[in-house]
Amino acid sequence: MINLEIPKKFKPLASQANQVATEVFRPISRKYDEAEHAYPKELDMLASLIDGMNEGSDIGGAGAAGVRREKSDDGSNRNGSNLSTVLGIIELCWGDVGLLLSMPRQGLGNSAIASVATEEQLEKYGGKWAAMAITEPEAGSDSAAIRATAELDGDEYVLNGEKIFVTSGDRADLIVVWASLDRSKGRAAIKSFIVERDNPGLKLDRLEHKLGIRASDTANFTLQDCRVPKEALLGDPEINVQKGFAGAMQTFDNTRPLVAAMAVGVTRAALEETRKRLKKAGVEVDYDKPALSQHAAAARYLEMEADYEAAWLLTLQAAWMADNSKPNSLQASMAKAKAGRTCVDVTLGCVELCGSVGYDENELLEKWARDAKILDIFEGTQQIQLLIVARQLLGKSSSELR
Ligand SMILES: Cc1cc2nc3c(=O)[nH]c(=O)nc-3n(C[C@H](O)[C@H](O)[C@H](O)COP(=O)(O)OP(=O)(O)OC[C@H]3O[C@@H](n4cnc5c(N)ncnc54)[C@H](O)[C@@H]3O)c2cc1C
Repeated sequence: MINLEIPKKFKPLASQANQVATEVFRPISRKYDEAEHAYPKELDMLASLIDGMNEGSDIGGAGAAGVRREKSDDGSNRNGSNLSTVLGIIELCWGDVGLLLSMPRQGLGNSAIASVATEEQLEKYGGKWAAMAITEPEAGSDSAAIRATAELDGDEYVLNGEKIFVTSGDRADLIVVWASLDRSKGRAAIKSFIVERDNPGLKLDRLEHKLGIRASDTANFTLQDCRVPKEALLGDPEINVQKGFAGAMQTFDNTRPLVAAMAVGVTRAALEETRKRLKKAGVEVDYDKPALSQHAAAARYLEMEADYEAAWLLTLQAAWMADNSKPNSLQASMAKAKAGRTCVDVTLGCVELCGSVGYDENELLEKWARDAKILDIFEGTQQIQLLIVARQLLGKSSSELR
């Protein structure tokens, strides 16, 4: 195995995040898997600590809020914010992905706000916890099919529609809602709006019961004449048919590597645990021998580890490109596709290799196998990532290849 190391300047952050994962997340991992919908109160203190770490750091933070494409004083891109966030997330998800998703102020809405908010919006909404509401009953993979509407009425937008599967929707302070300014103008008219969670026009319908990431709440909402100030619109209020959907979709270039990082973290957790179990059972993994001349379990382990390494490298590449102002849509989708699939395959493979111990609730392997599947679904499913990759490689538009 080629043992590639992360840059030296990121090592303290990765090691702090690993310490949090080991000392805070792992001990309460099973507790909140069982107590679905209970708020993991242990995270409050931790979130304040991470806020402090983000403020004191010049290389970005350990959570989603760390992602902002900033310019240095000389106008060049500030290197390191996406990469450091990805490295922090990998470590924290090695601890528990459901708890990472429940961390105050680290929602995917925070990432959207950090990416495109004006200084005034940052001032107003910075420091708050923001969820992201794109999905609707009739608009999942095809986010251009969004039916929620936003109508300008004086100095306010009036939002109407239904949003489902909103991660942290019940706990966050803000929800970034995608809605159309004019449904006749198609995808170009879809904009995002910051809605305060206590807005009377935003009604919580229910919380989902789930296969995995049970520590994280997933909420469904109705927006009924939900009024927000004009200034709550994120990005350009003009409908630019030429530019189309590109602005809104750019957020994904930042967030897909983060979800890939979650998958990489869970995958590594399962591999490490399995390696220990194999060792206990007398199976040694030998990197100097061809896989096929080793114990079948060791050969399978090596195969899974190779997939993990590929996912890890693609994830780092996508984040590094974002930090260096290189268009990364292709790499972000490649990373998300590879890491999501690898996480599902490897966590189940580890359950298989560890036999009954892998399936037992006394260990975390079975939990990781359940947690893995969502990482191959949200922020764009496996199939959608492959579609995006194919379009980019073949030079086809979304209407030519769907
Ligand atoms: C736990 C959880 C948390 C979530 N959190 C959020 C959140 O915070 N915010 C948010 O907005 N959404 C969230 N989602 C929603 C998630 O992003 C969607 O479930 C996802 O985008 C898929 O949409 P869908 O469920 O409508 O499936 P569909 O789009 O109906 O897809 C069903 C199947 O068809 C496949 N498919 C669809 N189109 C194509 C195509 N063109 N080619 C090939 N295959 C295709 C898909 O890959 C999938 O396998 C969450 C979902 C879950 C389960």
